[in-house]
Amino acid sequence: MYINASYIKPRTLEEAVALLAAGEARILSGGTDFYPALGDRVVREAVVDVSALTELRGVSREADRFRIGGLTTWSEIIRTPLPRCFDALKSAAREVGGVQIQNRGTVAGNLCNASPAADGVPPLLALDAEVELVSGTGVRRIPLADFIVGSRKTQRKADELLTAVLVPRALENAGSTFVKLGARRYLVISISMVAVVVKLSDDEHVGDRKVLMARVAVGSCSAVARRLRALEGELLGASVRDGLGRVVRPEHLAPLSPIDDVRATAEYRMDASLRLVQRALNSCAESG
Ligand SMILES: Cc1cc2nc3c(=O)[nH]c(=O)nc-3n(C[C@H](O)[C@H](O)[C@H](O)COP(=O)(O)OP(=O)(O)OC[C@H]3O[C@@H](n4cnc5c(N)ncnc54)[C@H](O)[C@@H]3O)c2cc1C
Repeated sequence: MYINASYIKPRTLEEAVALLAAGEARILSGGTDFYPALGDRVVREAVVDVSALTELRGVSREADRFRIGGLTTWSEIIRTPLPRCFDALKSAAREVGGVQIQNRGTVAGNLCNASPAADGVPPLLALDAEVELVSGTGVRRIPLADFIVGSRKTQRKADELLTAVLVPRALENAGSTFVKLGARRYLVISISMVAVVVKLSDDEHVGDRKVLMARVAVGSCSAVARRLRALEGELLGASVRDGLGRVVRPEHLAPLSPIDDVRATAEYRMDASLRLVQRALNSCAESG
């Protein structure tokens, strides 16, 4: 057996935090971003493999929020019974690679890797999620919207472990939808993706229902996924009778700054995003 002296697999959070406090080390969870990013290089830094920290797995319900353990895999997200506001996150989970990747890849790995095309980010942004970071000096919580600051850049300090993602229960009864556009159906990096969370009034006739709260987030069209706050404001009070998609106008996409790359041109991405936002809002409203 090959033993790398700088590879350590702690069994408890306390042990993991102490190891990270003791000196600079790279964190390894599912490894599905970690290993591909290495290419032909070998790991020279110390590696702290946190995958045995079962205390950081699973979703629990607290008084005013849901706690998604950082090491929860995408397959666990798919399998766990959760309220409708998590439908978008579940759909995104089904889009992360294939089943093998979903069995290994974790929520924390997706957020800390901070790819502009990370499927987990728009649904969690639309849920007003916060991340919880633990180090030897304590615990801090930051809105996800502030945590990811650029392509592959986060506010995480070297000694901090992302232990959980926190979602306020205020959104629990809202509906949610995720749509992703890629160049093919499966195993695809997105050209654009949209997550919406919409809370409607509970009028008996669906056509009479109005928007009480709306969250719209778009990924893959800027270095960091963005919320469309002007659109969210305009959706308030809108009736579902003629579809919510009609509220969306090109200027609502102003926060986006897509690039031309091998997958699509910036112009195509803007056009596609407009249609995806319309489609996601209509579909979310139709499902009540
Ligand atoms: C074939 C393939 C297809 C893929 N398809 C998609 C896709 O469609 N959509 C998508 O979004 N992603 C995709 N991915 C990327 C990847 O699977 C996901 O981003 C996954 O969620 C990463 O989680 P992980 O646990 O494997 O992270 P790791 O690879 O273990 O870690 C990723 C990064 O996060 C850091 N990190 C991990 N855990 C923590 C923690 N708890 N605290 C602090 N830092 C931490 C690591 O140090 C590393 O820098 C794909 C990957 C592969 C190989």
